[in-house]
Amino acid sequence: MSQFDLILRGGKIVTHEGVRVAELGITDGHIAAIAPRLDGSARAMVDAAGLDVFPGLIDSHVHFNDPGRAHWEGIATGSRALAAGGGTMFFDMPLNSSPPTLDAASFDLKRAVAEQTSLTDFALWGGLTPGNLDRLEELAERGVIGFKAFMANSGIEDFPHADSYTLREGMKRAAQLGRLVAVHAENEMITTEFAKRAIGLGKTSIRDYLASRPVRAEMSAIAQAVSLAAETKCALHIVHVSSGEGVSLVAQARAQGVEVTCETCPHYLVLTEEDVAKLGAVAKCAPPLRSATMQEELWSFVRAGAVTTIGSDHSPAPPEMKTDRNFFKVWGGISGVQHTLPLLLTEWSAGLRPGAKVNSDSNAPDRKSALQSIARLTSFNVAERFQLPQTKGRIAVGADADLALVDLKSNFTVRAEELFYRHRQSPYVGRPLTGRVVRTILRGHTVFQDGKIVSKPTGRFVRPVRP
Ligand SMILES: [Zn+2]
Repeated sequence: MSQFDLILRGGKIVTHEGVRVAELGITDGHIAAIAPRLDGSARAMVDAAGLDVFPGLIDSHVHFNDPGRAHWEGIATGSRALAAGGGTMFFDMPLNSSPPTLDAASFDLKRAVAEQTSLTDFALWGGLTPGNLDRLEELAERGVIGFKAFMANSGIEDFPHADSYTLREGMKRAAQLGRLVAVHAENEMITTEFAKRAIGLGKTSIRDYLASRPVRAEMSAIAQAVSLAAETKCALHIVHVSSGEGVSLVAQARAQGVEVTCETCPHYLVLTEEDVAKLGAVAKCAPPLRSATMQEELWSFVRAGAVTTIGSDHSPAPPEMKTDRNFFKVWGGISGVQHTLPLLLTEWSAGLRPGAKVNSDSNAPDRKSALQSIARLTSFNVAERFQLPQTKGRIAVGADADLALVDLKSNFTVRAEELFYRHRQSPYVGRPLTGRVVRTILRGHTVFQDGKIVSKPTGRFVRPVRP
């Protein structure tokens, strides 16, 4: 009898703690042994020589729009794209599925769809809106990862923004239920008023849209959310912070004892307002892309460890919803779930980014610490912040064998034909990247290899663990 189901040999293991060469012995979907050299026998062997082995990426921010709007993306295609990018788990946002996840019934519906069609493991967000305060408890019982609220118009009618009363009351209840609240932080009054004025004057270009969502709209909302979190003792996570100033506000509040963390997204780190001016609808998002100077500032906060998680905010829509000449009417959302790892590896670890100290030797200390930080931001920190079971987000004995094998020397250009999305559009098409995901392993089982999906959907629902 073989000692292991699988031995992964020769790879460099990248974890939140560091980088080292080791072999992994995998049995029943779990990591059973880690050692410089494993002597036991195995039924199968994976040669990872020359590859870096990351913990499977956990994307805590996607909109797969299923059920109800699978023609926008769907869990089947969304989870395949995630796996092609080294992802082994996603957290689906409560909108833009139809119905949105606002009560037990809509939660059950989405969980059933995901259990049938997801290639990767998954968790589900519940929504916090003016109409569903009395449903938070049943959502918590069902195992939502947390509650998501919009402080500004969400763009979709069945998910109204949380006014101050709703947000405060929702945070109180979430704190009692032991769940965190995540907010889209932009000030409703500022963004709506600016948009109205611009449209009224016939100013509807890309630049006009960008100007209608200034950083101060983000700052004002973050400040309000933080003060409510302080008052209600609710754990708070600010999603898709677009600016260093925003991160700095979060860091200050944390230093004062507020339990608040934040996320940023690859697009804020690699694209700027010049890119949206060039690329148009595929690069429209809210908060919008910022200037190169602001982006550099955001990077410095990321490098300093002030950002807790990086999520893709993958949010696609059919191409026909992205064609209006009035840029305010173009449906927003960036398709990016497939490229989080290569984008970060290219910009940070391979060192295209000015200011990033780089050495092409992956054993060099700066390179190692960049890789370690990427493993934290895309996996370990996500598991910790959202209280996933100890089996997720790490490469350790007893953990699920969720792994992304990456060839850090492989250069490639993103091509539309290689996107696994339902609609093959992304602002990253044509972009040269370094660091190709060559294999993704979910609980010991290869789901993606050499550009192809090689497994049926076997994704499982994961609920947070409460102390
Ligand atoms: Zn989102």
